[in-house]
Amino acid sequence: MRFHIITIFPEMFDSYLQESIIGRAIKGKKIAIKFYNPMDFCEPKKRVDDRPYGGGPGMVLRPELFLKAFSKIKISRTTLDINKRNVKVILFSPSAKKFNTTYAKNLVKKKYSDIILISGRYEGIDARVQKILKAEEISIGDYVLTGGELPAMVLIDCISRQIPGVLGKYESLEEERISSSEVYTRPEFLKWKGKNYKVPKVLLSGNHKKIDEWKKNKKK
Ligand code: SAH
Repeated sequence: MRFHIITIFPEMFDSYLQESIIGRAIKGKKIAIKFYNPMDFCEPKKRVDDRPYGGGPGMVLRPELFLKAFSKIKISRTTLDINKRNVKVILFSPSAKKFNTTYAKNLVKKKYSDIILISGRYEGIDARVQKILKAEEISIGDYVLTGGELPAMVLIDCISRQIPGVLGKYESLEEERISSSEVYTRPEFLKWKGKNYKVPKVLLSGNHKKIDEWKKNKKK
């Protein structure tokens, strides 16, 4: 799966995408990530943003720069076709339809090959960009962030771990097994500031039926 990110702050992604599981997925070619910066298309001495029509505070990102950045997306030397079934264009917006694991799973199941993520900043991107690119507007939660870069990382992270081979074992996916938010490892007896903390007995019992029941109860 290829992720194409349109952002005016590509450096923000550097350390997150290089580390741990996602870093390994990129090195192992399970996923690929490319950046397109609307700033690269900004005329000398002009700004990437402009005042909003209708007034109000904040600035709006100029549409042509985002459209030009988008048109640089190429798949094996041919320009990306947004009408193709395996291409998905997503634009981030705090008030839109909410992203979740089911959404991530569906993208993987439907075998999308190219996912375009468009990150806004300031007051957002001129609305014509969403219309022209037929982008689906997605929110990652009921809070307003300063930009769409964290949302893009959230999607890449959540979608990537659904791709077979990205997590060490397929069974690591919570959704495929009974998982628990309360987890323990060694030591069995932890001494901390004069007090003892034990691992719940049931986890040491070797009785998998009971262990699963305990995990299920912890989930509620
Ligand atoms: N004035 C805008 C908010 C702009 S926030 C409004 O009322 O909708 C600036 C940018 O951050 C947005 O364009 C979007 O790309 C991103 N963003 C902020 N919060 C987000 C969220 N919860 N989910 C997805 N994107 C978000």
